[in-house]
Amino acid sequence: MAKLELKNLNKTYDRKTIPVKDISLSVEDGEFLTLLGPSGCGKSTTLRLIAGLEEASRGKIFIGDRDVTALKPGDRNISMVFQSYALYPHMTVYDNIASPLKLRKTPPDEIQRRIAEVSRFLDLSAELMGKKPGQLSGGQRQRVALGRALVRQPDVFLLDEPLSNLDALLRERVRAEIKQLFEKQSAPVVYVTHDQVEAMTLSTKVAVLYQGNVQQLDPPSRLYTHPANQFVAGFVGSPQMNFLTLPCQGRSAVLGEVKISLPDGVATPRQVVLGIRPEDVRLAQPENETALVGKVFLVENLGMQNLLSVRLAGDDLAEPRTLRILLDAQRDWGGEDIRFILPTQSIHWFDVETGDRLGLRT
Ligand code: ADP
Ligand code: MG
Repeated sequence: MAKLELKNLNKTYDRKTIPVKDISLSVEDGEFLTLLGPSGCGKSTTLRLIAGLEEASRGKIFIGDRDVTALKPGDRNISMVFQSYALYPHMTVYDNIASPLKLRKTPPDEIQRRIAEVSRFLDLSAELMGKKPGQLSGGQRQRVALGRALVRQPDVFLLDEPLSNLDALLRERVRAEIKQLFEKQSAPVVYVTHDQVEAMTLSTKVAVLYQGNVQQLDPPSRLYTHPANQFVAGFVGSPQMNFLTLPCQGRSAVLGEVKISLPDGVATPRQVVLGIRPEDVRLAQPENETALVGKVFLVENLGMQNLLSVRLAGDDLAEPRTLRILLDAQRDWGGEDIRFILPTQSIHWFDVETGDRLGLRT
């Protein structure tokens, strides 16, 4: 087994289309890296560059100490799973899974042994092994595609939005299966998705991609607690983080009547972006005099919790500002004035111009 390394990878189609600008990262044995980002940010192109389905315009790709940048896809020993499953419709499940081994002239008894292992692993019944892809459900087809990837025992696994064609319930189940499956594999995995829940639940680390560049590369928990910039902060976490652009006075940001201290080590800007997650806003104790006040104008019941949209009072802007607050669903909050606080340790600060995180990255 071997680590996968991308060095200053770039793919340019024409001067206007640069889906991958400059990507450097490495994935060790046993690591599960997810490329997470909105549609069009360059995820699939990056994966196709690793697989050799696209030629890099610049940069290098290493698997272990092998430079594979110029190798044909078949010579890289990589397995790839696609959103569309890409199974052969005229072949049985057995032959679909066997196809990469037959292509490499693996001896028949070895093929049989490996397929038996994989089908046990994936719980593919003997009956199912004899069916054609058209007779299977979406979830079964994706398990077969996974089986075909696993049977090759590749140096690297690549998966491009493998759950996107499944309905919500099935997606959760297959997601859990994928997690269990790859915990037992030692080869590096690169998984592509636009779904932050998939990224957070599956990965040992996540690279957030935007416009062909890595915005942040960190374990999921750190992405959530220490987003490197406003883009990552807004993309990771649901419901989305609240952002308020506030004027500054000295070392404080001003929100209505309340002054909030800026973190240490930040030069005093004229304006700053305050970020706070809906789940981090707290109701204020009655005696708290520095509480913020707002009127609830929308309540969305999420089952376990209520998502309140609150219009801030005492905000002298022409356009009143709103904040979303996640609270336990014990009562009906509609139309009420509520008093709340933004706990200092939960506030994220960002530069108004660049969107970069302000303050120490502790
Ligand atoms: P993602 O998988 O993150 O949705 P892609 O990697 O598929 O994004 O695409 C990134 C960008 O590159 C998009 O703007 C897309 O239109 C463009 N692109 C992808 N493939 C080609 C191609 N063969 N020719 C020209 N532009 C392409
Ligand atoms: Mg894609």
